[in-house]
Amino acid sequence: MIHDGRFGRFGGFYVAEPLLPALEALEQAWLDAREDSDFQATFRALLSDYAGRPTPLYRSPALSETLGCTVYLKREDLLHGGAHKTNNTLGQGLLARKMGCRRLIAETGAGQHGVATAMVGALLGLEVRVFMGALDVARQAPNVQRMQLFGAEVVPVEAGARSLKDAINEAMRYWTEHIRDTFYVFGTAAGPHPYPSIVRDFQRVIGEEIRREVLARHGRLPTAVLACVGGGSNAIGAFAPFLDDAEVALIGVEPGGEGLDSGKHGATLSRGELGCVHGSLSLLLQDSHGQVQEAHSISAGLDYPGVGPEHAHLRQTGRAIYDSATDDEALRAFAWLCRSEGILPALESSHAVAAALRLTERFDSDDVVVINLSGRGDKDLAHAMSALEARR
Ligand SMILES: *Cc1c(COP(=O)(O)O)cnc(C)c1O
Repeated sequence: MIHDGRFGRFGGFYVAEPLLPALEALEQAWLDAREDSDFQATFRALLSDYAGRPTPLYRSPALSETLGCTVYLKREDLLHGGAHKTNNTLGQGLLARKMGCRRLIAETGAGQHGVATAMVGALLGLEVRVFMGALDVARQAPNVQRMQLFGAEVVPVEAGARSLKDAINEAMRYWTEHIRDTFYVFGTAAGPHPYPSIVRDFQRVIGEEIRREVLARHGRLPTAVLACVGGGSNAIGAFAPFLDDAEVALIGVEPGGEGLDSGKHGATLSRGELGCVHGSLSLLLQDSHGQVQEAHSISAGLDYPGVGPEHAHLRQTGRAIYDSATDDEALRAFAWLCRSEGILPALESSHAVAAALRLTERFDSDDVVVINLSGRGDKDLAHAMSALEARR
């Protein structure tokens, strides 16, 4: 490897020996692609013509009134596919093609990353195999159908708890046996180096657009940027272009589940401990025996037990701060945004809105706050309606 993939003490690549050549080849392809103007032009063209970038930066009257300053929603919910995940799978699909791989594999929990990978496989003419916990296959029928319509094979994983963690392990195992012709499309800014950096690079378009648009409208940078954090990809994409601008507050919002003291949450950065999961050293939810603990959240996309190593580092250095929102708060924010703006946010994104709604005293009237609305909530409709009903 050319880089050690460290963010402070976090990151690195803790994988079985047979995977090292694959990660080395991936690192080389990524470093080449960064300098390759043809690659970058193709990526930019697909982002705009296929996926619909730039996404709007929408001034929300309701949020602006509530917070007493200018509040924008970065509308990743309007991206093709319904969430920011498309940025990453398009980039990694192009990397796969550049490396001459004919097959994409991916892990998926709720199915969103699987669908985004299947979509790009169909677009680029690559075979796709998606590993999905058997329990998730049963729970997420519409996403399984989408993947199959896009031509992907969905492989149910019967091991362990039959959910996301097991699907990742299975995908890694399959990759080890097929490294010659197979590209592993990782779904978030975690995993072994170089994935956290690759995913950040493909998602940073979110932050670049925020930066450009806020500068154009206000002649200054935003006061704060908020984003929800599962593994951390939409947040790191929104934060990355501002890391050197100390005046911009970067606020990540984790799933507080049923409350941080309930033991049923996914607040990895607030409550996790140093540990190694999926090939990288980061913060991680563990039980008293050091076993990886399941994360809990009302939003399936946030219940990843680990978090990307760059976020662990940004928290340690204090460059970003991390807050959490509970299931109840996220649901209330979800319903509130629907009613006040006619925008149906993903439950994941609703965590960022919920945390913002708590910051009513924090901002001055000329401050500019941006909330990354990572995705749309159509996928959450049934779940959110029954949860709202149960709370009445
Ligand atoms: C997957 C997903 C997330 C969580 O993933 P990150 O890698 O933390 O961004 C957040 N929002 C939406 C809409 C998602 O689909």
